[in-house]
Amino acid sequence: MRWILLGPPGAGKGTQAALLTKKFNLPHIATGDLLRQAVREQTPLGLEAKSYIDKGELVPDNLVTNLVKDKLSNIDMEKGFILDGFPRNISQAESLDIFLDNNHKPIDAVIYLATEEQTIIQRLSGRRVCQSCEANFHIKNVPPKKEGICDYCGAKLIQRDDDKPQTIKNRIKIYNQKTKDLIEYYNKKNILKQVSGDLESDKVLALLQNFLKTGR
Ligand code: ADP
Ligand code: ZN
Repeated sequence: MRWILLGPPGAGKGTQAALLTKKFNLPHIATGDLLRQAVREQTPLGLEAKSYIDKGELVPDNLVTNLVKDKLSNIDMEKGFILDGFPRNISQAESLDIFLDNNHKPIDAVIYLATEEQTIIQRLSGRRVCQSCEANFHIKNVPPKKEGICDYCGAKLIQRDDDKPQTIKNRIKIYNQKTKDLIEYYNKKNILKQVSGDLESDKVLALLQNFLKTGR
């Protein structure tokens, strides 16, 4: 199971990736999480990536692509993996294809979580993340047991800087300008599976499990 989760910010890529990787015991490669970790640790990558992330722009392709290749090189690609937030433009997709083709481990499916703008804004503006383990919550949809505290590790929940209104707008703009092209790119390869990202997360998960079983 080598899957890509594709969709606008707030489509639920991270949520589904977490559910699927837990269920199937697969590596979850989320470039956003990896980049934020690099920023926290102030690595050279993190220092370079920060200004892009804060503005809601894409971090330069070579940085992100190398990061992903490095992760993929360290896992058993035969067993599978879930890519979340990568690729985000055609150039990243082409680099990924070359890398996976060379390793004879092509992508089996690209799950496109088609999501309304209204849903996106509601989800992102209410999202809270654990500053330690990156677990996601939502003030209305998925509240933590204790306000402001992570259910899993007890650390503080914060609002991501890029979940503030102005940056949300820019992230949606960048998605429409660049990432959307990937729908056609993967559709042409006949590996695109569209699911509504507006549904609740357990419904989306059920559809994905059904797709895995039946191929439809
Ligand atoms: P979301 O999908 O909700 O926008 P992510 O956590 O995936 O959030 O990404 C947050 C930010 O990290 C992006 O706005 C961008 O700056 C950077 N980023 C993540 N993945 C990539 C990527 N594949 N290419 C370039 N930048 C990326
Ligand atoms: Zn936590």
